[in-house]
Amino acid sequence: MTNISLQQIFDAVKAYNPDADFSRIEKAYHFAEECHKGQYRDSGEPFFLHPETVALIVASELRLDVSSICAALLHDVVEDTPVSEKDIEQRFGSSVARIVDGVTKLNKCFFTSPSAAQAASFRKMVLAMTKDLRVILIKLADRLHNIRTIQYKPIPKQKSTARETLEIYAPLAHRLGIYKIKSEFEERCFRILQPEKAAEIEEFIKNSDLESEANLNAAMAQIKEHLKEVDVVNTTVSGRPKQAYSIYNKAIKYNTTIDGLYDFLGIRILTESVKDCYAALGMVHKYWKPIPGRFKDYIAVPKANMYQSLHTTVLFNGKPLEVQIRTYEMHKVAEEGIAAHWDYKESGGSGNTLDYKEKLSFLRNIIDSSQDIKDDSEFMENVKVDMFESLVYVFTPRGDVKELPKGSTPIDFAYSIHTNIGEKCSGAIVNGKIVPLSYKLENGDCVSITTNKNQRGPKKDWLKIVGSTSTKRKIRAWLKKDNKDEYILQGEREFLEAFQRLGGDRETEKTFHTGAFANKVKDEIGFSSLDDFYAAIGADELKSQQVVGKLFPDLAKQHQEKQIAAKNARKNKEKKKVSKGPRIICGGLDGALIKISRCCSPIPGDDIIGYITRGRGVTIHKKDCPNAKNLENESDRLIDVRWDLGIEDEILGTSDDYKVKIRVETSAQRGMINSVTSVIANFGINIISASCKTTRQRMGILDFIIEVKDSVMLRELLYSISKLVGVSKAYRVEKTIGPSTAEKKAKSKKGDNKKAKGK
Ligand code: MN
Repeated sequence: MTNISLQQIFDAVKAYNPDADFSRIEKAYHFAEECHKGQYRDSGEPFFLHPETVALIVASELRLDVSSICAALLHDVVEDTPVSEKDIEQRFGSSVARIVDGVTKLNKCFFTSPSAAQAASFRKMVLAMTKDLRVILIKLADRLHNIRTIQYKPIPKQKSTARETLEIYAPLAHRLGIYKIKSEFEERCFRILQPEKAAEIEEFIKNSDLESEANLNAAMAQIKEHLKEVDVVNTTVSGRPKQAYSIYNKAIKYNTTIDGLYDFLGIRILTESVKDCYAALGMVHKYWKPIPGRFKDYIAVPKANMYQSLHTTVLFNGKPLEVQIRTYEMHKVAEEGIAAHWDYKESGGSGNTLDYKEKLSFLRNIIDSSQDIKDDSEFMENVKVDMFESLVYVFTPRGDVKELPKGSTPIDFAYSIHTNIGEKCSGAIVNGKIVPLSYKLENGDCVSITTNKNQRGPKKDWLKIVGSTSTKRKIRAWLKKDNKDEYILQGEREFLEAFQRLGGDRETEKTFHTGAFANKVKDEIGFSSLDDFYAAIGADELKSQQVVGKLFPDLAKQHQEKQIAAKNARKNKEKKKVSKGPRIICGGLDGALIKISRCCSPIPGDDIIGYITRGRGVTIHKKDCPNAKNLENESDRLIDVRWDLGIEDEILGTSDDYKVKIRVETSAQRGMINSVTSVIANFGINIISASCKTTRQRMGILDFIIEVKDSVMLRELLYSISKLVGVSKAYRVEKTIGPSTAEKKAKSKKGDNKKAKGK
């Protein structure tokens, strides 16, 4: 058969996306057909049969959007015909072009290595390369058709493709939950890779079928009957087909021969609701004895790939009977995986655009969820790698995958193969094109390195372009060796500087060229030559100060003590500043906790009075503060206080600053803020905050919160401001100093401010 008609593709799309833009599909169909004209497959059929089949799989089994159908039709055009990605973009838009490009890139990656570690890296790479899930889905469809028609390829090619499919694409299909494609991959590849084993198992299945079929039919009939008893209707009960590959895996898992495997019977019950699932389960367990440890509730705890089902194994006529119970909806997900989640009806508007980004993040969330089964841990790790996008995967010319830090260049690649190749690296070819050594590698790049054996070694400039720290280390090591004299000089200089910094003396310095010192270095640091020792310092492998400390522990100790002393002195100074608090003497209450009230904010020089609060020490108000006046009827809690204006503070200039609010009224002239603030600055006074507004009478009102030492200073300041041209008034605002919002928050938690005021 040669022809899949356009109509078949249309019908498949229509079934799930009736509003699709069919003219776009038609255009892509004819364009691809034209491009591949004259090309033939190994079977002798026209090549175009391949892309149209892939498009049909993408439509009928994965139900993707119109862009994907177009991309499926065009997926081999860029690789196999003169058409470029640009052409595709111009004709079909950037979305189709990007998908085609993604598939083309994946096609260039061949997995050849037999090692498991390489398979893991390769899977990571496929994910890392694929920002768009549609690329992987089309690739799966592409591979499915190629595997179905693989018999026309030579045997070695069949085997290598089958191995790649089993190692890479079947696990990916599994992860996406597309069980149908995954199991087809497994069954077909198993037959290609191990034809004899497969034949043996098929023989085994056939022979055991006669007996087991009777058993299976009996079991199904009885289950159907019993389901009626628990009012579960509209169910489908079916036998599960036996898969050669899964039987083979079971034999390996239980470490037994095929014959040693007891005859597995499998039954599947599909129901309308979750409630029915559990009702059916109860019924099964009522009539047949469950085998302990075999019950799994994937409905309550779905698998990472969205699979949901109840699994149990019971004894039926003395043989194990595996029963899977799930809803029709869950079954659809189990068979189709991610594809079951596309919903064209809800996508809004035209109905053929899907937010794949959303879907992908949804998928990632699921993959990332902790509800995962053991054998998936590796995949989870892979997806995380992809999400952090910190690594890049490239190929060696032999097809091995190399994992490098993102930002790596061909130089990093060369070093990762062998230090010698790195050092002699003179050029790079990526995907068949010459690139500069500073080229940043991308996922899936195939990299080959040209070396020049006459090249002395790495260049110093390379340190600026390489992407991995291990490459840098290697280049530095070489440079150190090559520029040893320079490094020795520099190291010696650094060593001497560090010695002097730690307070080393001249006499000791003179011994640095003696044999005794060389011996000391050998004993304490482990370098047998002073040159090597200095070169290591020069190359930053040894830290000069640490080395001096090791060689002269007394010096280091002294230095450390000095530093600690200096640190403590600094700390004490700060502590003093903080803990000092307002310098106020309370009659008879030494050591009382003193707080400056916020309602009137007294400053040194103001007449003040103290109020003994309950449990919070003494609050200081201005004598004429209205709040303080209210406190007078509690005279037993009022206390005489006065400012402690120590002479020490005057001299040292260490007295505290107090916040006050001042207001300046001006005849709204320009530049008033400037002149007022410069007066404040001339007094050396800090401005904590400033705000200004203009009244209806075109008067300017400037409010400042400033920090002053006492009332004398404040008076002088206000006087100077009032002398400014344009200032009509400058005065202290006694009340309503609003604390900053941050302070308010802190206060409202403690609530002490309000209480104190309320008293
Ligand atoms: Mn293809």
